[in-house]
Amino acid sequence: MINGLTMDDCPLTLTAVVERAETFHHGRSVVSRRPDGDIVRTTLGACAHRARRLATALASLGVEAGDRVATLLWNQAEHLELYFAVPTMGAVIHTLNPRLHPDDLGAIAADADDKVLVVDDSLLGVLAGFHDAHAFRHIIVVGGTGDTPAGARDYEELIASAEPMRWPVLDERRAAAMCYTSGTTGRPKGVVYSHRALVLHSLVAALPDQLEVSARDTVLPVVPMFHANAWGLPYAAALTGAALVLPGPRLDPVSVLDLLAGERVTMTAGVPTVWMGMLAALDAEPWRWDLDGLERLIVGGAAVPRSMLEGFDRHGLQVIQAWGMTETAPIGSVCRLPEELDEATPDERYEFRGRQGIAAPFVDIRARGDDGRLIAWDDRAMGELEVRGPWVAASYHRRGSDEASFTADGWFRTGDIVRIDPRGCIRICDRAKDLVKSGGEWISSVDLENHLMAHPAVAQAAVIAVPDDRWGERPLAAIALHEGTTASPDELREHLTQEFAKWQLPDRFEFMATIPTTATGKFQKTALRERFTRGV
Ligand code: ADP
Repeated sequence: MINGLTMDDCPLTLTAVVERAETFHHGRSVVSRRPDGDIVRTTLGACAHRARRLATALASLGVEAGDRVATLLWNQAEHLELYFAVPTMGAVIHTLNPRLHPDDLGAIAADADDKVLVVDDSLLGVLAGFHDAHAFRHIIVVGGTGDTPAGARDYEELIASAEPMRWPVLDERRAAAMCYTSGTTGRPKGVVYSHRALVLHSLVAALPDQLEVSARDTVLPVVPMFHANAWGLPYAAALTGAALVLPGPRLDPVSVLDLLAGERVTMTAGVPTVWMGMLAALDAEPWRWDLDGLERLIVGGAAVPRSMLEGFDRHGLQVIQAWGMTETAPIGSVCRLPEELDEATPDERYEFRGRQGIAAPFVDIRARGDDGRLIAWDDRAMGELEVRGPWVAASYHRRGSDEASFTADGWFRTGDIVRIDPRGCIRICDRAKDLVKSGGEWISSVDLENHLMAHPAVAQAAVIAVPDDRWGERPLAAIALHEGTTASPDELREHLTQEFAKWQLPDRFEFMATIPTTATGKFQKTALRERFTRGV
């Protein structure tokens, strides 16, 4: 029996990742496109060095270990600097999603108890919408030119006036980052990532059969840095020395294609909506962009239709599907064609590539049927996917491990209904959670319903997701009005704007005498889907 310490028990912290970028990958480029279209060039080394100054400046503003520093930023170099500085000084970076309704943003900032906010000048209008809901101790403006809120600091001045920080030694279980995810009802829930989780996630992301990030790559994350850590790509790039291209807010197909071609990007990642638009642009002008260097497009966040796989194959571009959640940091599984399917028919290959893939190393999966028993991996039985692993949430911030989200033995319940084949490859068939996913962002059906039913004319409201070519899904509201009352779709939409962002409002309202219900009195959404998604 060998006892005692056998190997150096050094902590797995992001400090090592940031120091590696600074020491070994300092010359690798970081390109950002500002909201006005200007291209700004810097390097991983410069970002890592400026992160040391930024950390000193934040500490001098009173940021202490464990404090939350919120960001309201695009994919831009300053965001990367905050990704480097905040966790490494021992604080927690909290990325805010500017697309949320101001009430949600205010509630999220208050729930996280954010001490400082770093905001891009172009997002000050968004901040104005929730400024009153939470008192940040300090507001720091990036790229400030115009009217800044009273008392706000300038990001560049702060960095210029501070000395570089010597990074403290941290415990690997310490919180490094946090991100909120939409619940099916009520306010979004906070997921807190530890250093250890993000280090292991970066290592696995870089593996050849995962996202395969290397020093030879130039990575363009279309997926926002406020969305589940941009799928781990910024830290994976820092670890491996991949160059980064950060596209800012302009994510229309032509702008993204221009950057992919102009910066010789090798790998990019985003939700299907982005790629649908790109495919149409490529089909329209196949010769306009030279994408010879582009080796892979990682697509996730929603199902990848076969037409998209075929479409990009036509242009010689490889789409790789991945599945994940904010609660899984986010990589849960990646779909890579196994060698034995190399010679398979196109149908078999597309069938496989349309799946969500095999669980990433260290992520355990299982699925539970309606009868409460685990399902067989026979590709026929269906059940709710449960996961656990070193970068899977064990609880929500301030809410603990509620039964609806976690099993008694500590697995996370994903709300995704899957089949699992004998290889262990999952296919998502349905969703147990009552949400609509539009353009990669969630809309809560239940919240829409509750708010619609608060309208005096509405007796019943049921919201379902209907397929949409552009956005993946859009909300449709089935409405039964009280007898003798009237309400137009415009009036109902107007009523909803108090609580919901514009893009979250239903496009279609279908008025019915009464909404069908199940034996237990719930709205029978299957019947509504059947009826309205077929357009009958
Ligand atoms: P993300 O930031 O990756 O969109 P969210 O937590 O917002 O993470 O959403 C996670 C959910 O998105 C999953 O539970 C699942 O319902 C859906 N999803 C993610 N990836 C896929 C995929 N490849 N295919 C189908 N659905 C997916």
